[in-house]
Amino acid sequence: MALALLLSLLPRGARAEERATLVWKGESHPVATLGGKEFSVSDAARGLGFAVAADAGTSVLTITGQGHQVLIGPGTAQVPVDRRVVPISSAARAVGGTLYAPADFFEKILFPLAGAAGAWDAARRTWTLTAAGPAPLSIEVAVVHVPPATQVVLRLSAAAKTATTSAEKTYQVRFADTRIDPPFPEKKYDDPLVSAVRFSGDTATVELREPNLAARSYALAAPDRIVVEVTRRGAPPPGSPSAEPAGSGTSGAPAFTIVIDPGHGGSETGAIGPGGLQEKEATLDIGKKIAAALPKVLPSRIVLTRDSDVLIPLDDRTSIANHEKADLFLSVHANSSRAASAHGSETYYLSLEASDKIAQEVAKQENEAGAAAAPTPAGTSANPALDFVLWDLAQSAHLKESSELAESIQTELNAVSNTGNRGIKQAPFRVLVGATMPAVLVETAFISNPEEEKKLLSPEFQQAVADAVARAVARFFARRQPGAGRPAPAATPIP
Ligand SMILES: [Zn+2]
Repeated sequence: MALALLLSLLPRGARAEERATLVWKGESHPVATLGGKEFSVSDAARGLGFAVAADAGTSVLTITGQGHQVLIGPGTAQVPVDRRVVPISSAARAVGGTLYAPADFFEKILFPLAGAAGAWDAARRTWTLTAAGPAPLSIEVAVVHVPPATQVVLRLSAAAKTATTSAEKTYQVRFADTRIDPPFPEKKYDDPLVSAVRFSGDTATVELREPNLAARSYALAAPDRIVVEVTRRGAPPPGSPSAEPAGSGTSGAPAFTIVIDPGHGGSETGAIGPGGLQEKEATLDIGKKIAAALPKVLPSRIVLTRDSDVLIPLDDRTSIANHEKADLFLSVHANSSRAASAHGSETYYLSLEASDKIAQEVAKQENEAGAAAAPTPAGTSANPALDFVLWDLAQSAHLKESSELAESIQTELNAVSNTGNRGIKQAPFRVLVGATMPAVLVETAFISNPEEEKKLLSPEFQQAVADAVARAVARFFARRQPGAGRPAPAATPIP
């Protein structure tokens, strides 16, 4: 009724009745427009052959087709496209129940996804599109310095063949068979090893700050990335301690800094067992025991994110680790399940996609705890999603090591809990997002299981878990001694 009333009040020929035309594959499709500047998202998307679904609650449109997904709603200026976020020149807005977006939403996002290209003809009020071949590869760049290396992460919209060239002060990645849609021509970075990243033609150039730097690159999948790793020549390979090697020091200075994060705390209890044990109590006890056990097996400096019953926001926990320049971040939790029989330990590392439905559920529970803003891909509040993507890039440089550490911990914990391998899992834990070092989350046991709740209360079990984790961490670093070499991560998809 409100809409009909509004339309009846508009003078004839008012903006809401304007039409543009989109010509694609020989057919003309009418597209509602506001002044030839903004266009109906669903009219154009359907004309291009995409399916459009509207969320009744939020008015966010989900556009799908040809293996792509785009989310856009009123207020969206950072558009989630597949696994990327693409900025548009002004926010989408709803007028008279129709969602309108600026021209660049169509030209930069929708047309390329449909394999189409074409410019707006204002005089004829028409977009005449032609097949443009496969969509160009879009690229996001993140530069993360974790001593001793800088990682330049090129996150790609699809896998791509590349060829690399190393020169005195540059490292170039050429995209062989694909057109690319660079995020910028040049961006300068305030990084100790990398001064800028440039795009020109089919090539990305990483500018090195000094001649005496070495660069190499490798590919990662899911999501597709090219990681360029820059180190000083003769420096220990990344993942080795930047200080002197463990155990060989004469000064007695610890070689590693390890941040241990007892989950939850304060008003945020975490899961509660059938006998009343609160997760925050068990995680603090076990966290303190790990802190005591680690220096006995590894020369290390330990930082606890909390050593009392206080609430610490999730984001602050990784900030502490980043500030301390930690070599490793370890978050300690106790699992819960609706199935009272669920038992055993599980070790997680970060991924945007959970490795299975249950891992997703565990992450959801932990993320709800004290999260100021859980990452949502919805278009309405795009900034948290954008932050999430960028922070994920920070951790993505360490996914391989994180998975190795998780594997090492899980092997030890399986022996303690004497259960079948529950395995290592990937899940989008918010507490791991933003850690610029290998980071894992350990669910020590199921607090929801009456038997395991009793175990979590017992100092003996707590100690056994702490010792197991300490052994695993020591083994993880032992593999990273200079000379021990680092397994080449070339083109290995994350398991
Ligand atoms: Zn927890």
